[in-house]
Amino acid sequence: MSLERTFSIIKPDAVAGGKAGAILALLEERGFRIVTMRKMLLSQAQAEGFYAVHRERPFFQSLVKFMTEGPVIVLALERADAVKMLRETMGATNPANAAEGTIRKRFAESIERNCIHGSDAPETAAVELAYFFSTLDLAI
Ligand code: ATP
Ligand code: MG
Repeated sequence: MSLERTFSIIKPDAVAGGKAGAILALLEERGFRIVTMRKMLLSQAQAEGFYAVHRERPFFQSLVKFMTEGPVIVLALERADAVKMLRETMGATNPANAAEGTIRKRFAESIERNCIHGSDAPETAAVELAYFFSTLDLAI
């Protein structure tokens, strides 16, 4: 399969907990190339916009509070079958259900504080990459 790009966020729990380097190393070991990345503090509006698909869910306000509590690292990643492979490498949303060797199994605290985001489909990846990165950022 040809190279594909996806979008990821190392969430505030993992950045504050000093796990960002280990997560980046694991992603590289699994064949992902870091196209570009940025450490940033999400505003409430940015977090609400990013997770707008979940705005009717009972956990939405709590999720936005979590995602804005400290810096995140936003990433563009590239490899063959990147969207599907990142979801596999992350593991299940709830770390209690995540498979051995996945990022969430190793580093996540709870279903909310689950250390990493990954786009769930190629169409979502394109929208999320464009939400955070410019064409010039991605031309690397
Ligand atoms: P992400 O979109 O962050 O990659 P995901 O696709 O595995 O995660 P989603 O269903 O899209 O899971 O949920 C988005 C995020 O909302 C989760 O990663 C988690 O941080 C939070 N979340 C999901 N379900 C719950 C829940 N039941 N209680 C609290 N937080 C939740
Ligand atoms: Mg999701």
